Amino acid sequence: MTAPRLALNDGRSIPQLGFGLWQVPVGTTAETTATALRLGYRLVDGAAIYGNEAGQGEGIRRSGLPRDDVFVTTKVWNSEQGFDKTLRAAEASLKRLGLDHVDLLLIHWPCPRKDLYLDTWRALVRLRDEGRALSIGVSNFQDPQLTRIIAETGVTPAVNQVEINPRLQQPSLRAFHARHGIVTQSWTPLGQGRSFATAPVQAAAKRTGRSPAQVILRWHIQIGASVIPRSTREAGLRENLDLFDFALSEAEMTAIATLDEGLRCGPDPARFEMD
Ligand code: NDP
Repeated sequence: MTAPRLALNDGRSIPQLGFGLWQVPVGTTAETTATALRLGYRLVDGAAIYGNEAGQGEGIRRSGLPRDDVFVTTKVWNSEQGFDKTLRAAEASLKRLGLDHVDLLLIHWPCPRKDLYLDTWRALVRLRDEGRALSIGVSNFQDPQLTRIIAETGVTPAVNQVEINPRLQQPSLRAFHARHGIVTQSWTPLGQGRSFATAPVQAAAKRTGRSPAQVILRWHIQIGASVIPRSTREAGLRENLDLFDFALSEAEMTAIATLDEGLRCGPDPARFEMD
């Protein structure tokens, strides 16, 4: 079943489920992308730093789907922040993808100490106005940076892609998103399997006859996030797509909410500045 779409604050929409290309090997990215699209995924999440944008674009062409049926995301890496550098980085990404526009362009990390994210955001606004990115957003931004770019430019990001999984639920950031009409997109949604064996996940898996991974991905869907799991196995891709013919009960959602420990798998966005 095709994933439902979430409305974006710019009048466009985004599939609620996609697949991610982080750590997908360069040599197999095109085939993984084409396979995922043939299975029914319609959102491909990539980034310049993943080093596999050429395969991402090739996979989309190989799938045979019309370009407009696929939602393509890429991200501007930290070393390319700043107005002019970001414009050039986006053009380089489009060239590697072999596309004339992406559906969503994100600032990968805020790098607050570099203090270039505001100029970077201004470049994304320019790229959107020029049609090189149909929607623009950010990744790993926290309240202070979101507040600043909105106040300074009057343009609210359509999406903030952040680490979310049952152990790191980010309730206050998600409430900020809800107040501003920003779609939350969950990265590392399976949280390295750290909550697969917990009682709430096991109980929901038993009742629904689904795997722990499916229960957790369904939890993301029901909190209203867009979610981008990665699997390099065809069986994994299939399993992670199969989320739309069952639901978690309110009691199961409440039980999973108790797993939040504020524990990250990835870096702390307040400190991560790697080029
Ligand atoms: P995920 O949470 O998607 O987990 C991927 C891991 O889980 C892989 O080891 C995969 O192994 C395994 N897995 C996948 N499906 C299943 C399943 N059904 N059952 C059991 N194990 C499974 O992690 P990622 O870190 O890749 O995050 C997803 C995407 O988010 C990335 O690919 C990237 O696009 C994005 N991302 C964005 C970041 C950002 O800063 N904006 C940071 C990190 C990620 P196998 O391949 O063997 O199935």
